[in-house]
Amino acid sequence: MASIDLHFHSTASDGGLPPEEVILRAAARDATLLALTDHDCTAGLAVARATALAAGVDFLDGVEVSVTWNSRHTVHIVGLGIDPDNEVLSAGLKSIRDGRVERARLMGASLEKAGIKGAFEGAMLLAANPEMIGRTHFARHLVQSGEVKDVKTVFRKYLTTGKPGFVAHEWATLEDAVAWIRAAGGMAVIAHPGRYDMGRTLIERLLTDFKAAGGEGLEVVSGSHSLDDMLRFAIVAQKHELYASAGSDFHAPGEGARDVGTTAELPPICRPVWAALSARIHRAAANV
Ligand code: AMP
Ligand code: MN
Ligand code: MN
Ligand code: MN
Repeated sequence: MASIDLHFHSTASDGGLPPEEVILRAAARDATLLALTDHDCTAGLAVARATALAAGVDFLDGVEVSVTWNSRHTVHIVGLGIDPDNEVLSAGLKSIRDGRVERARLMGASLEKAGIKGAFEGAMLLAANPEMIGRTHFARHLVQSGEVKDVKTVFRKYLTTGKPGFVAHEWATLEDAVAWIRAAGGMAVIAHPGRYDMGRTLIERLLTDFKAAGGEGLEVVSGSHSLDDMLRFAIVAQKHELYASAGSDFHAPGEGARDVGTTAELPPICRPVWAALSARIHRAAANV
């Protein structure tokens, strides 16, 4: 295991722990380099960075940008080593956050038609940052209200294409997301490629568009990847000359496969993103 985790969430988006708690949880598992990557939001970074540095852990400022690619595919782009105060990035992220509350109302209305009342209000109560209301908050509400047994089952029965509670949404373009990340001094990385509902040809097209836009990295190790995914995308990264990243995609204790703070080792053919991002790393005093 490597003591590096460059993809996880806090209550600033749809994580279950506040920024300081998720960082301390990772530090307790001997992490040496962390990046908090909340969806479409940088509000947790200042506290997360300060907590990491005080705990002797190096830190990269991060974000996970929601993108709509090729008209209908939702793709997530992680930005690593960003400057959270950059105005181009801040304005871009705000533009995609703005549609979330209205989308959530429509999700609530769609669930109501399926016989589930009060889901919008219930989900909002679980969103520490209401402008970042999303599907995870609905999923947690449906579990906590006893409607569905676990979060995984919620996504199978609801909230996904064709199911009650699903509302199609237009996120950022791939080109904009990569441009915002680069404007803020960061590296753009395709998140969890193994999770997209795309065959090899579409993935190749996505990679071609991503590289043309200035993207440089691919998540090879991810909490949502199988061993097969990891090996396959290690080879894809090598072929396309992309840096390889590693992240748990941790959201909350008891949710998902991986805890925060450590990840599987990258296969040796990979060129790690952290080597290329050395100048962007905030170093803890003990590690300078
Ligand atoms: P949103 O940005 O509101 O569409 O929510 C997307 C989030 O929903 C992802 O970042 C995950 O946290 C969560 N999610 C999506 N699909 C699943 C799934 N099949 N199981 C568990 N969580 C999921
Ligand atoms: Mn999420
Ligand atoms: Mn994601
Ligand atoms: Mn994520």
